[in-house]
Amino acid sequence: MKKNLFFILFLVPLVFQVHAQQDKARIKAVFDEALTSYESYSNLKWLCENTAGRICGTPEAAAAVEYTYQLMLEMDLDTVWKQECMVRNWKRGRPELSKIVSGVYGTTEVPVCALGLSIGTGESGISARLIEVMDFKELEKMKDDIPGRIVFFNRPMDQKRIATFSAYGGAANQRTSGPALAAKYGAVACVVRSLSSESDDYPHTGVTRFDPDGRQIPAFAISTNGADLLSAQLKSDPDIRLWLMSTCQTYPDVPSYNVIGEILGTEFPDEIITIGGHLDAWDIGEGAHDDGGGCMQAIEVLRLFDATGIRPKHTIRAVMFMDEEVAQRGGKAYADAAIEKGEKHIAAMESDRGVLTPRSVTIGTDPVRFEKALQWENLFKPYDLKIVKGGGGVDISPLRKVNPDLVYLGMLPDAQRYFRFHHSAFDTFEQVDRREMQMGAAAMAALVYLYDKYGL
Ligand SMILES: [Zn+2]
Repeated sequence: MKKNLFFILFLVPLVFQVHAQQDKARIKAVFDEALTSYESYSNLKWLCENTAGRICGTPEAAAAVEYTYQLMLEMDLDTVWKQECMVRNWKRGRPELSKIVSGVYGTTEVPVCALGLSIGTGESGISARLIEVMDFKELEKMKDDIPGRIVFFNRPMDQKRIATFSAYGGAANQRTSGPALAAKYGAVACVVRSLSSESDDYPHTGVTRFDPDGRQIPAFAISTNGADLLSAQLKSDPDIRLWLMSTCQTYPDVPSYNVIGEILGTEFPDEIITIGGHLDAWDIGEGAHDDGGGCMQAIEVLRLFDATGIRPKHTIRAVMFMDEEVAQRGGKAYADAAIEKGEKHIAAMESDRGVLTPRSVTIGTDPVRFEKALQWENLFKPYDLKIVKGGGGVDISPLRKVNPDLVYLGMLPDAQRYFRFHHSAFDTFEQVDRREMQMGAAAMAALVYLYDKYGL
């Protein structure tokens, strides 16, 4: 009895303290290494400069596959491989053109770009009168007037929302399913206000979805300034016509790859923790924040483990997913292969919210295990990081099919500026700050280190 009491009162807290000190030192070493290294940042620079426009199916996407494959081969990893998947093959063609033609205001060019998976207009373009609506209810009310017109969805992202991802979510259905709905009512084309949090001249693209058996029409994004101008002119001159031209087209699927590198676990090599980003990016930008930076952070976690001497107990993989933006084929292929091989996936993380200053690390699991994770809070405090519920990602969510109990680990950056870059030509390397990106990678590595060591 006395012995047990001694154990509980003195030894357990002592062991706990030694562990806490060790973890504190390990995590500090990880942040020190991350913040003094330029490697990941200069790799991102290379990726942005040499593979800009790497939407799936392009030679740029193939170059990004080869680059990250070589990058991981040069690291001290146990295995590096490419995992084949067939991807959609949509090409923008020539830069799009558009003109507002008004009897009152004359002719004005406005910045537009085709939405991903849209059909083109043909070389001569399409010209028609417009109907401006804010949402699907309004569209429904005006459906008798729609045949032969261009539908103009003009609902902005709600600036008053603090969570910009939720403001994005509040406006995104105009882009993803608005054009298909407009087509159903007889529109000849569709323009959607860019999902941007700023007033500027960048059109923001993104995928739009049509029923393959339904009617399809050319669909465009218009810059926020362009949308404001169009709306203002329409108010005083309802007879305005908009002329739109795009030569985009979908070609037959082509093979591409996820790129995977792993460090084998010392104790549980069959249990896998996946850290992902997506390698494809919209063709009009460099995909620096979305998601070249996220890919580099995933690789950086493995480098940080190696550089600071952490040997993980479980197998840790960095996965560059292909085709997140168009049809998410890479994420599906990765989960399908896991099922086929009978792999055991215990946790997954994806960095796909920009590589801005991290605010929190996230854990997506049941309340009991989340409560347990909160014991790590003190270890993150020196880095201004909280532990909050959440996580997941488009590419790793199919892994819940492999293991419904899979724990989502994550890192949440400050997202106030993210929707200035997202899916636009403004998403360039110059918009990435090295320290912010490295703080994110270190936060990811610290969380993976703790999860690997203690589990949940
Ligand atoms: Zn993304």
